[in-house]
Amino acid sequence: MGTNTIRAVKGMRDLLPFETTLWNRVEAQAREVFRVYGYGEIRTPLVEETQLFARGVGAETDIVSKEMYTFDDHGDSLTLRPEATASVVRAYIEHSLSRNPGLTKLYYIGPMFRRERPQKGRYRQFFQIGAEAIGSDSPAVDAEIIEMLWDFLGRVKLDPMPEILLNSLGDGACRPQFLEALKSALTGVKDRMCSDCQRRAETNPLRVLDCKVPADQEIIEGLPKITEFLCEPCRDHYARVQEYLTMRHIPFTPTPRMVRGLDYYTRTTFEFVHGSLGAQNSVLGGGRYDGLAETIGGPRAPGIGFSIGEDRLINLLGEAPAARPDIYMVWLDPESQKCAISMAADLRARGVVVEVPPEARKMGKLMEQASKLSARFALIIGETERVSARYTLKDMSTGAQETLSVDELTKRFS
Ligand SMILES: [Zn+2]
Ligand SMILES: [Zn+2]
Repeated sequence: MGTNTIRAVKGMRDLLPFETTLWNRVEAQAREVFRVYGYGEIRTPLVEETQLFARGVGAETDIVSKEMYTFDDHGDSLTLRPEATASVVRAYIEHSLSRNPGLTKLYYIGPMFRRERPQKGRYRQFFQIGAEAIGSDSPAVDAEIIEMLWDFLGRVKLDPMPEILLNSLGDGACRPQFLEALKSALTGVKDRMCSDCQRRAETNPLRVLDCKVPADQEIIEGLPKITEFLCEPCRDHYARVQEYLTMRHIPFTPTPRMVRGLDYYTRTTFEFVHGSLGAQNSVLGGGRYDGLAETIGGPRAPGIGFSIGEDRLINLLGEAPAARPDIYMVWLDPESQKCAISMAADLRARGVVVEVPPEARKMGKLMEQASKLSARFALIIGETERVSARYTLKDMSTGAQETLSVDELTKRFS
């Protein structure tokens, strides 16, 4: 390619049909699982006011402080959404969805944008499949949303199934005491930690806990644990989430070090991790955000949600078999082409994948093409076939041939 060739933007990529086959299958499974749990789809804009993320996600988070695509739109500061929970909660408030009976259960599938350092398997436009249940702080909701995820990952046949890490981050009543204890513990040790930890010790001490730098791990092990600071209602909530999961036979690992990168989480947080992904091993993460709606100017609306990194999930699932025609129409003269076009229409209406070559070619060339496309069958239509109204169906893998009437052919593929 020449130096002036235009290519996709760094960190953003095209998904081609050999990939989208699997993407579509995964998304169809998600839609089906979410539907039976009573979730409806929401599609929010890709662009929001920058304030929504600064206030909702948190100005000190990595996402907001250095990864957002923000631009000036004639005086308004707008941002390409780096995640969708803040947008969903904004929509929940804007449309007064709290007036609907019961919980508001919404899911979304779509691209998010973060200007991260380019790394293998990380994209600046990446896809998330997520859901939010808003309007209740019951631990039963937390367990059910985790059950829904477990169900979904089982249906897409993720193998082995991931490990579920569970934690509680407390709430406004107990987290401040924990943060105080964490800060004072950090003053003694932060100088021996990585530069990110030194900065976070000042700006966002909770984030020190999920530092992945190996040399810091021993120090992190010695820091206070959030679970030792939970107030009575938070401790009870956390215990009940665990009971409800056990009742559902869903395995989980209590992980007091697991914090999430976003400021809005309260109480339950979880991650599903998969060994084969290495250090960046999280397939999905989520948690409760009982104060988020108020943070962005709405009424109190406790909620819980998750987002799945779809790019990573797809990566773990491997490859879908390539799409291939069921029948390749080997037509041999103009009259047979008409016949092929009309038979193709009938077969396609029954869901059969049919390829009709656009140009007249010799039989040998057409059979060669059928084989290159990995067609399951070739259907041969020439003058003899038209006159007898019986067509030759050739099985491309065995070479076996049979002659069938249109009726027999239709039955064969229905
Ligand atoms: Zn560190
Ligand atoms: Zn608490």
